[in-house]
Amino acid sequence: MLEKLQAQSPDALLALIKLYAADERADKIDLGVGVYRTGQGDTPVFAAIKAAEARLVEEQDSKSYLGPEGDLGFVHALMPYIFGKDATMGGRIEGMQTPGGTGAVRLAVAVAQKAGVKTIHMGVPSWPNHAQIFSDVALDVRTFEHANEDGTANLENVLGAIRTAQENEAVLLHGCCHNPTGIDYTDEQWDQIAEALSQSKALAILDIAYQGLGRGLEQDAYGIRKVLAAVPEALIAYSCDKNFGMYRDRVGALYVMMKDSSLLDPVLSNLNALARASWSMPPDHGGAAVRVVLRDDTMTALWLDELETMRTRMRQVRDHLAAAGDVGTLDLRPLGQQNGLFAVLPLNKDQIQRLRDEHAIYMAGSGRINIAGLHMGNIEKFIGALEEVTS
Ligand code: PMP
Repeated sequence: MLEKLQAQSPDALLALIKLYAADERADKIDLGVGVYRTGQGDTPVFAAIKAAEARLVEEQDSKSYLGPEGDLGFVHALMPYIFGKDATMGGRIEGMQTPGGTGAVRLAVAVAQKAGVKTIHMGVPSWPNHAQIFSDVALDVRTFEHANEDGTANLENVLGAIRTAQENEAVLLHGCCHNPTGIDYTDEQWDQIAEALSQSKALAILDIAYQGLGRGLEQDAYGIRKVLAAVPEALIAYSCDKNFGMYRDRVGALYVMMKDSSLLDPVLSNLNALARASWSMPPDHGGAAVRVVLRDDTMTALWLDELETMRTRMRQVRDHLAAAGDVGTLDLRPLGQQNGLFAVLPLNKDQIQRLRDEHAIYMAGSGRINIAGLHMGNIEKFIGALEEVTS
């Protein structure tokens, strides 16, 4: 029976990792896979996480099961960073731990679908797994162009989607550091998005996977907090895999906000049942380490410092690229206004192939680059290569 299955094309980015690894040129540059890298090209474990892990080894006295909701100490410790001072909005928000932000997005749309949502609106391009997850839970996906050609967000398109969305429809929004474009809504645009959502019957699903890597922890939460203040209910998918460097440990959480705290329990019981049927309970270690960090002032200060170092390094790379201005046919200035790990360069397939073949520069076929793959030792080579392939 299984032989009836059609082969699926391999994940393009994972294939790129293999090609990059096999390239023997010493000055090769990896702008493909979406992980943070230091100026030396490493993706180290945070010192704050190392400290927390040491404490966990010392103090953890059982690995007995928790439950589908995972480590609620972790889930709650994160909330003030995401939602602000009134972290539960008067008891209206509760959450559960998930296997990464991917698990959170998956659970969000699964519960939305169970509640009757049939269609989801999203800007494109988006993180490729969004469309994959949505089609896997049989949602009808309606897309709109996220960005304008000048590298700014297209406000009219998202407002149009929100205004036309009916009951039983959802709208997906990236909280900050849009993947793949790096193009975020401005605060003024978020004000208008929140206002439009407050008039809409659509369910807001907010995906926040890079908090602290754009404008700063607080500033990166502006949009989601604005939306949550305006709507009666929402789902918020959160990933700690970038801002705590946990990647393979799969650390995430899904939060639900309801109009009234008394409405939370039925939703949470559905989330628990869906989680139970999918992965039973999330992996513990990473979430526990983040909890230990956030409950200890010294470790928290260390984490905040490490996060800020990452953010400012990526900002420097962006400023450097933006200062190059016109490069061949490209205008790199907008990169200075954009946020986070990613940007999309308007390169064609041939130019992307030439960058790889002639300059050992590896990027996704979509033209997405990982900003953190660049540093002061390779950025001039990169700019020179862009000039060459686009002139
Ligand atoms: N949402 C977005 C927008 C992402 O870019 C990512 C991952 N890069 C995720 C969710 C999921 O993150 P993870 O599962 O690795 O925590």
